[in-house]
Amino acid sequence: MDNLSKVFIAELEEGRLIEFVESVQPPRKISEKWVLIISTLAGCPVKCLMCDAGYYFKGKLSKEEMIAQIEYLVKDKFPSSEIKTEMLKIQFARLGEPAMNINVIDVLKWLPVRYEDINILPSVSSIAPKGFDLFFEKLIEVRQNLYSDKDFQMQFSIHTTDVEKRNKIIPVRKMTFEEMAVIGKKMYKNGFRKIALNFALMKDSPLEVSVLKKYFSPELFMLKITPVNPTYSKLRNEVESFFNAYEEDKNYLIDEIKSAGYDVILSIGEKDENLVGSNCGQFIVSHLNNDYKLCDGYTNV
Ligand code: SF4
Repeated sequence: MDNLSKVFIAELEEGRLIEFVESVQPPRKISEKWVLIISTLAGCPVKCLMCDAGYYFKGKLSKEEMIAQIEYLVKDKFPSSEIKTEMLKIQFARLGEPAMNINVIDVLKWLPVRYEDINILPSVSSIAPKGFDLFFEKLIEVRQNLYSDKDFQMQFSIHTTDVEKRNKIIPVRKMTFEEMAVIGKKMYKNGFRKIALNFALMKDSPLEVSVLKKYFSPELFMLKITPVNPTYSKLRNEVESFFNAYEEDKNYLIDEIKSAGYDVILSIGEKDENLVGSNCGQFIVSHLNNDYKLCDGYTNV
């Protein structure tokens, strides 16, 4: 699976375990787009219902510890340090909620300096936790100033428009949809990609277009719909993916969202990535420590 994605596990000081990933996204070749997914925290305190990263939490990573993940992947793939790709996407999305680590801002500042000749696409994916205003203020500053002439991917993982269910899926204090819309508006830059609202859709977790319309303008926001990947947390918490339960309703839902004016990406991903354990919500250390082994995920670890 070396040509699709590869997960690396690193042990930092004090026995903190982190993971980072390099991947290509078929049909694109590495020469067109190369994706690095790095950890921002050692584990995650949020403990989303379907995510194995909540398995443990040992604090936030320093700027240097995040940079080391990027530099290691670059050296592993391109030993000469000459990165041969048209787009280098850096996702702050392996272990940890990035807003809980202000050092992510320093890495975002470092990237265009270190890789000045490369088309960098940073990607910040957040569950919008409450109480991290400074992070979002700085993020907006960086996006609007340092990346003013570049694309920048910002994603809020919402998962459902039902507030109570959202609280159950993401069990920490979070911003309201109004508060997220204000930040999204400030992050958006005309002419570049819209702010993504991510839904890892579960059975019985509604996605109501009327709620979306109330808070999120289709001019600024788009939707990304994904299945819930095979994880131990998903199994333990009896989470069922919407796509398994209501496969036939998928097209109806997408048509409804599109009719409301939203762009939609249906991001099913590569099944092989589930087997490698590189997909969202997966954490190989959790797999290694589990006596029971999943058969639809982590089998090629
Ligand atoms: S989905 Fe993100 S925020 Fe939730 S537990 Fe996993 S890493 Fe943390």
